[in-house]
Amino acid sequence: MARINDHYLKLAAGYLFPEIGRRVRLFQGENPDAELIRLGIGDVVLPLSPAICDAMHRAIDELGTEEGFRGYGPEQGYPFLREAIAEHEFKRNGIHVDADEIFVSDGSKCDSGNIQEIFATAAKIAVPDPVYPVYVDTNVMAGRTGMPDAEGRYAGIHYLPCTEENGFLPKVPSEPVDLVYLCFPNNPTGTVASAAALKEWVDYARETGAVLLYDAAYEAFIAEEGIPHSIYEIPGAREVAIEFRSFSKKAGFTGVRCAYIVIPKELRGTDAKGQPVEIHGLWSRRHSTKFNGASYPVQAGAAAIYTPEGEAEVRSHIEYYMTNAKIIRDGLTQIGMETFGGVNAPYVWAKTPQGKSSWEFFDELLNKAQVVGTPGAGFGAHGEGYFRLSAFGKREQVEEAVTRIRDRMIG
Ligand SMILES: *Cc1c(COP(=O)(O)O)cnc(C)c1O
Repeated sequence: MARINDHYLKLAAGYLFPEIGRRVRLFQGENPDAELIRLGIGDVVLPLSPAICDAMHRAIDELGTEEGFRGYGPEQGYPFLREAIAEHEFKRNGIHVDADEIFVSDGSKCDSGNIQEIFATAAKIAVPDPVYPVYVDTNVMAGRTGMPDAEGRYAGIHYLPCTEENGFLPKVPSEPVDLVYLCFPNNPTGTVASAAALKEWVDYARETGAVLLYDAAYEAFIAEEGIPHSIYEIPGAREVAIEFRSFSKKAGFTGVRCAYIVIPKELRGTDAKGQPVEIHGLWSRRHSTKFNGASYPVQAGAAAIYTPEGEAEVRSHIEYYMTNAKIIRDGLTQIGMETFGGVNAPYVWAKTPQGKSSWEFFDELLNKAQVVGTPGAGFGAHGEGYFRLSAFGKREQVEEAVTRIRDRMIG
């Protein structure tokens, strides 16, 4: 029999969402008539906007013609999309990112999971706690960790606690690390980092040679002025940071699949002899070896969000979700729960009442209100005592969920 990759066996059993699914199925089995409202998994619910659908239809029709047919496209993405991204996401906001520094893909989960491959197995990694589980699990699979402890913390990973005391902003580590995963606006806490907070990270990386892996999947949800949308708004970040962006939450592409990664040409790592090596070239090699490009209709659909109609439609979807977030925040506040996030991100991070554990609160919410949320402990040890509610729901459902929580959860 073939030997397997033993590192996979270190992965903590009972990944968060399967465990939620198990408890929900159990509840439904016992309460077949209960009407559940799901505000757990971060998936969008509004249909694709007309500008995107039209562009995808046109692209498919083109492919069905002699002149318009296309086979394999460029692995890094079609120039029309890379140029539109560079112009609308960056240049227009005064940020320097060139089109050839953008690599289009089929999702940020893959990008943020794959990026570790081009760094040494010995690379020391730091992650916020709580955290989007992909950053951790992909490093476990790659053999950068030991076994997890009882709270799911892996030996060999440097965890950066994000607590109420530090405003859910990870502090720069006192020991040197090679790779730091950051995510703002944050999943799961819904909090954002100011330019001053990000500058500390950029300065740290410049001083120590660390590389920042900056996940900006929720950038489009930033509502307040003065909050950075990109790590490259911070001077000096081009030498030390990679940024991940996705159309999933911004434009409802969770099922369509399109994202991109930005790797500035100035960014360097070192080889075994300590000589500098361009990260851009390494990723380009990896991407074109293991990926054959996002599909043409999908990229045409993504480019449509940069038309005036597309932009307006995307904006209105985001406003819809952010109104949901406000309804959730206000509802929880009214019953005396303490909440964070939900202002510049589609997630509300709530403190569980009366010191309940996050799984206890999950079960109580499911049983009393038939609302499904996500227990904070599933995102890391410091998520214990917190609960995530997602604003990705239909308005009536969000309103109904808040009403039920208000009416049934007291006492
Ligand atoms: C949803 C999400 C993404 C986007 O993933 P896709 O694979 O592009 O759908 C990336 N990062 C975080 C933290 C997310 O929550």
